[in-house]
Amino acid sequence: MKRTIKEIDVNGKRVFLRVDFNVPLDDHGNITDMTRILVELPTIRYLVQNGAKVVICSHLGRPNGEVNKKYSLLPVAKALVNEFLGKVYFAQDCIGEEVEAKANSLNPGEILVLENVRFYKEEEGNDSAFAQKLARLADIYVNDAFGTAHRKHASTYGVAKLLPNAVGFLMGKEINAISSVINDPERPLVGILGGAKVGDKIVLINHLLEKCDTLLIGGGMAFTFLKAQGVQIGKSLVDEEKLDMAKQILQQAKEKNVKIVLPVDYLCADEFSPTAKAVKVKGDIPTDLQALDIGKKTIKLFKEEIKNANSILWNGPLGVFEFKNFNKGTIAIAKMLLKFKGKAVVGGGDSVAAIKKVGNTDKIYHVSTGGGASLKLMAGEELPGVEVIQNM
Ligand code: AMP
Repeated sequence: MKRTIKEIDVNGKRVFLRVDFNVPLDDHGNITDMTRILVELPTIRYLVQNGAKVVICSHLGRPNGEVNKKYSLLPVAKALVNEFLGKVYFAQDCIGEEVEAKANSLNPGEILVLENVRFYKEEEGNDSAFAQKLARLADIYVNDAFGTAHRKHASTYGVAKLLPNAVGFLMGKEINAISSVINDPERPLVGILGGAKVGDKIVLINHLLEKCDTLLIGGGMAFTFLKAQGVQIGKSLVDEEKLDMAKQILQQAKEKNVKIVLPVDYLCADEFSPTAKAVKVKGDIPTDLQALDIGKKTIKLFKEEIKNANSILWNGPLGVFEFKNFNKGTIAIAKMLLKFKGKAVVGGGDSVAAIKKVGNTDKIYHVSTGGGASLKLMAGEELPGVEVIQNM
């Protein structure tokens, strides 16, 4: 268990709060989705109410280590003004004497939003001199940037080493929710895996084999497993180099008594295109077709397993859900999860987007705010931005 902001005295202290305010902006600099700001408000409110002088640090987009006003955090600071009227200031830089003076002049309960930390290439390089400059802005470091916790950057790692530290509420919630379902689930625990590449998710699959009772594999990655079993997959996505590994995983699953359910029917197309016509196929796939979604029978099979589950982990879409003719599998599973009564954890940008598209996510036990970070946590990997924080 990591120390949280509740376990440290923040009153009158300058708190360096690393958050993930990597919000989407339109061409006029308007924020088009406030989620990342809204989920951070409980931590900021707590710090403000407890007399901290809050110095907020985030990245936005990929400015590649150069100042680029397109990626300025000013719109975010403005959005915070609506919440914390008269208490929010903006610094045009994230290091330097002027910023230090601003941080030092804050009154308890006031907020200083720093400019995009990725305007410096030293951020992603975890440069120690840069981390020291950030550390001069505060007495305490708090990491609440779950979406960036898998990165070993100056503001997520380097500066944490230099100051007394803790995690914020969002980070605490993410870690607790994901860990509780992975490590102490009510059984059966069903893992639902989709997405494009087996290679990218191999650590996750291996880890889930240790943890889950059943694994449902859909999306592009299913075809490497199906081919490994001798099924004809036509032009479907396959990772030829991972065929042996797929065979090993299927074998291990048998030994560990983990049920792996693979698709048995599909919606196929003759080209990878949003306007391609969907062709229903059962079993072997003709050589001129590629499967872009799971079929009705497979959806039914998956639903049966989900019905029997008491805990669920879901990562990755079950088809090319960006194409409207091939989003049925992903949508069906997303709808099912909205009705699910047990603990379900949904991680990964696409799965979260799918579930948000079909309904109100409040009913789901945990919808993660971090794609890469949630994947790593589900895969049992340590996140540098968490590991660096003091244990309780
Ligand atoms: P990932 O980042 O590994 O979760 O992959 C997400 C991507 O997988 C999405 O952009 C989907 O369009 C893609 N995907 C899902 N199913 C398939 C499929 N059957 N064939 C090709 N790509 C797929």
